[in-house]
This record gives sequence, structure tokens and C-alpha cells, in this order.
Amino acid sequence: MRTVLTAHRLLTPDHVVESPAIVIEDGSIAAISSRDEAELPAGQHVEFPDCTLIPALFDVHIHGSGGHDAMEATDSALSHIGTFLARRGIGAYLATTVTAPLDSLLRSLNGLAHLLRAPVDGARPLGIHLEGPFLSPHKRGAHAESQLLTPSTVLFDRMWEAAEGNIRLMTIAPELPGAPETIAHAASLGVRISLGHSDADGAAARRGVLAGAVTATHTFNAMRQFDHRDPGLLGEVLTNDNLFAEIICDGLHVDPAAVRLFWKAKGPKRALLVTDAMAGTGMPDGTYWLGELQVRVKNGRCIIGENTLAGSTLTLDKGLRNFMEFTGASLAEAAALATRNPARMTGLAEEVGTLAVGRSADLAVLSAKNEVVETILRGKPCGAPVTQTNFNG
Ligand SMILES: [Zn+2]
Repeated sequence: MRTVLTAHRLLTPDHVVESPAIVIEDGSIAAISSRDEAELPAGQHVEFPDCTLIPALFDVHIHGSGGHDAMEATDSALSHIGTFLARRGIGAYLATTVTAPLDSLLRSLNGLAHLLRAPVDGARPLGIHLEGPFLSPHKRGAHAESQLLTPSTVLFDRMWEAAEGNIRLMTIAPELPGAPETIAHAASLGVRISLGHSDADGAAARRGVLAGAVTATHTFNAMRQFDHRDPGLLGEVLTNDNLFAEIICDGLHVDPAAVRLFWKAKGPKRALLVTDAMAGTGMPDGTYWLGELQVRVKNGRCIIGENTLAGSTLTLDKGLRNFMEFTGASLAEAAALATRNPARMTGLAEEVGTLAVGRSADLAVLSAKNEVVETILRGKPCGAPVTQTNFNG
């Protein structure tokens, strides 16, 4: 079966191809050419005349969507999440956990480990993002204080074993006792380390980087506030050009002016768009689980307790459009933040995040307004997005 997609433009995202023709065979990309330079290849033609083709998006920080939480760790939960995401242009994600009683967390990690090997509907979970329990009680956000744990290599190994080596990313507060050793140990196993949920001063943040941290979790949120005499973790995140950094672009977690500052600081090679989305994403207002926490969703805001934000109802395609609106960045600049950059940060750049011959045919088709009109995963269309049910969706 040979399919030829044509469109207005294609972003690999490192290169722009005008009037592209992309040949798909057996789920993989067999050729990419421009109709301006070559004859249209033979095959079944599918035309997207005013559209831009980009790699399917990759979200490294997402807890759930479509009514389900990744920590349910069931085939049904991941199918619901994967199917929902696939209709929004997302092809891959890291199943993200929250702090929970250790036994429950280990159970979820083990359940996810088994599911990661199975074939899935829609977007593929490529690994686990362990967010907690090694977080600061002062910057814990929605994470349950009583379940936070002091970092140790022994505890990390228990989680690593339960997850059968599938922890790809770990958020940790570098100022906690035992954090540098735990960071160095996890990094030596290939885990990418993300600094976050942290009250670290600059020195502690730099110790985390020296120990092996490569990125930062939802920049600005759940971090010590920036002070010009005590810039802390934020000072390190925004000025260390080697560090990647996540940002949640829903307009609620971070003010657009702070997003512009982030863009100037991190630039096109290091900025990462994430959603931190939870089960209520794409669902009506109501109460939803985030791990073992009950979260109220109202008008797209996820609240726990009095007024603590507990994840988002953002989808990554919307985050991409918001980012462009907040910063003035073009799609050619911004697409990499949700495709190539997360792939590079996680060490998965050979698998996802770029359109190239030989790769799985995973791509998002965007309209002239950058809305997702189709997602193609493993060469097969996933269907247009479902109707939006809340204002962030
Ligand atoms: Zn968080």
C-alpha cells in the first residue's frame, strides 16, 4: 500500500519543503520531495491543499486526558488517552505519574511497564515521567505533602525495578538531602533529570546540573520565585544554555509576558512545550482523578484545595497556537518545541520528532490557522478532532 500525501508546506521541522509530496509505504516514510522540483510520485493520493504537515507532537509531561489518568495503568485507560491525543495531533507522550503512597506508585509503574510493550491505539506512550515523590514540600503544588519522600538511590531503584527500566524522565528538587547522589545514579541509568517542584537557590540548582540534570519541569510553576539578588533555580534555568526547559502555555499557568521572557532565554533549541494535562482534558467540567487526588475542573481550570492549580486541560496543539500568539513566533520556529526538542531531550530523536525517510509516518496536518485537521500515525489517519468541550480544550 503506497499513499502519497500532498500539502501546501512541510516542516521536518529543521527544514521547510514547499509543495511537498510525502510517500508512505507500510506505515513508514518512503520519500519526501517537492512537487516544484519533481513529478508527483505514483500511489493513492491524499491532498491537504492549504495545510502544513509537521511531525506528530510529543508531550513529555502529561498525566491523562479524555477522562483517564495514566496511573490507572490499564489497557483501557491508555487506549482512551491515546485515542484522544491522536485526534489532537499528538503521536507520542511520556505517561506522567504524580506523588502517591509508595505502594500505589509502584503498582502504577509496574502496570505501565507492561503496557508500554503492548501495541496501542493512537498516541504511543514511549516511557514514564516520574513526577514525585522527590519534590520540595515548599513547592509541592498539588502533590500530597504526606507522600513526599527524601531522595535516595535505594528508593529510586525500587521504582526503577517496578517500572522495569522504563523511567525516561524524573522531576526532582535538587536541594533535598540525597538529591545529587540520586540524580547522578538515575542519570547513569539513562534517565533524563528535570529540576522542578523546587525551592532551590542558585548553588543547589547548579549542584543538580553538575550531578546530571538536563531540563526543568514547568518553568515558573512550583519554583522558588525569581529575585534579582537571589535568582535561585529560575536564574539557572533561564541562563544555562545547556538546559532544556518545559513551559505550560495555557495562559493560566504562566502569563504571556513570562512566556516571552522564557522564549528569549531558552530559544528554539532548548524550549519545550508541555501540557501537564490531566484526566479532565477534553471532558465537561466536573471532578477527576489525578493519581489518587481528586481535582475539580471548572471552565478548564484544574483546582485542588482552596486555589492550587493541579495540572491543566490544555492540549499540545492548543499550547502550540498559544505559544505562537504569546511570542509572535512562526510555526516554523515553534513546531520544534513540541516535536524535535522533546525528542532530543529524552534521547528519542532517532524515533520521533522529525519527518525523515525511514521513520514511522507519524504526522499532524495543520490548517492555515494551525488547527489540527488530521493526525496520521504509523501511516494511518486517526480522524479529525472531537468537538471541544471546554475553553482550553
Ligand atoms: Zn507539577
